[in-house]
Amino acid sequence: MDGLHREVVELTQDLIRLDTSNADGGRGSEHRGDETSVAVHLRDYLEDAGIDCELVAREPHRANLVARIPGTGDAPSLAFVGHTDVVPVDARDWTHPPFGAVIDDGGWLHGRGAIDMKNEVAARAVALKELARSGWQPEGDLWFLAVADEEDGMADVGMRWLLEVRPDIRPDLSINEGGGEKLDLVDGRSMISVGVGEKGTYPARVTATGEAGHGSTPSVGNNAVPLLGEVLRRIGKGMPKPQRSELVDHMLTVLIGGPGDDLQAALDQAGSLHPELRHYLPALVGITMAPTMVGGSSKRNVMPSRAWVELDCRLLPGTTEADVERAVRERLGEGIDYELTWPEHLIAGSSSPAQGPILDAISAFLEAEQVDAEVLPSLGTGFTDSVYLRAAAGTAAYGFSPFLSTPSDVIAAGFHNANERVHIDDLLLSVRFHLDLARRILR
Ligand SMILES: [Zn+2]
Repeated sequence: MDGLHREVVELTQDLIRLDTSNADGGRGSEHRGDETSVAVHLRDYLEDAGIDCELVAREPHRANLVARIPGTGDAPSLAFVGHTDVVPVDARDWTHPPFGAVIDDGGWLHGRGAIDMKNEVAARAVALKELARSGWQPEGDLWFLAVADEEDGMADVGMRWLLEVRPDIRPDLSINEGGGEKLDLVDGRSMISVGVGEKGTYPARVTATGEAGHGSTPSVGNNAVPLLGEVLRRIGKGMPKPQRSELVDHMLTVLIGGPGDDLQAALDQAGSLHPELRHYLPALVGITMAPTMVGGSSKRNVMPSRAWVELDCRLLPGTTEADVERAVRERLGEGIDYELTWPEHLIAGSSSPAQGPILDAISAFLEAEQVDAEVLPSLGTGFTDSVYLRAAAGTAAYGFSPFLSTPSDVIAAGFHNANERVHIDDLLLSVRFHLDLARRILR
């Protein structure tokens, strides 16, 4: 490994070895996250090249790192973004220790955060430092935001809070997690995803209402549990009624030439191109409402008057509370008594244009690298901090870091799971991509 490759591999290893699990675990809530360890490590690493760094913390052990190479002109500003926390582990399920950052003989770096997302945080930091070392003076600001508490968010010490207390951080463009997977399609073509948006959430609770009775005489009263059974039958798996949207039309155009007249047929055709697309595309065409939690009586001999199910509803950008309520009531239909309540407030999805300078820069980089893959603008079914950047700063926010040596099934298997790993060649590739991106956008 030569200079930059060694540098990014070692920095990724350093970050993985700092346990920033965003869970109480055995450590107590006062140690949840502990992202300050990573923020301090990154600060020390970057200050070495004379880069301005600040720790901005709402709670001392959960600091965010803000660094910047100031622009000399008024070109658009760009932010390199990443989160420094990770989801918890069960070490018993891992082949290598989850915080050991072991590199095996095949060039795989194992550890929690190898994909989500200490790899990308490290690559962005190395690119920033390399740009500063080279004496590069951009016309627009280049920010580096390494933030806490993305995986849980309940403590509100990460990106949302940072943007609120720091109105000076308003990048025009940003690059974060959420894309860069290469999909090899059955027809011989390859696609590389770029995250252009994220779905939102608005969980619902449906409570079937009947009349209580004693479990020894089932016909007495009106047991709410069988009523809930009918509710569950109508909800089914919670797949949406397919509806058109600009972004899905765009994806279908890239994949199969267009949505045609029959959206379901188009989804089936595009889904047959790759196993991941088969489950992912149908979840993108409307409000999903997966039933996940249920409850009825708390005593075996009591038939309850109420039994409930919670639906994990995921929404397209632009969907309102009223839209979700209409969709759930439409799915439930007539002839059952139920109450509908909303355990949490709506978190809106959002998206950025599926074209523009970042997408152009990605295509240009892939072409220069002679990567034979088309860019597939994609909507994420999960959450990222890009949502807060779009909301607070109107940032055109995207998710991309190229994974050409780490296959999509390896990424999917390790994501929030045991045996998370990344191929070390992708770490250098990501550094090179970010160097190229900054030079193209900020000049
Ligand atoms: Zn993540």
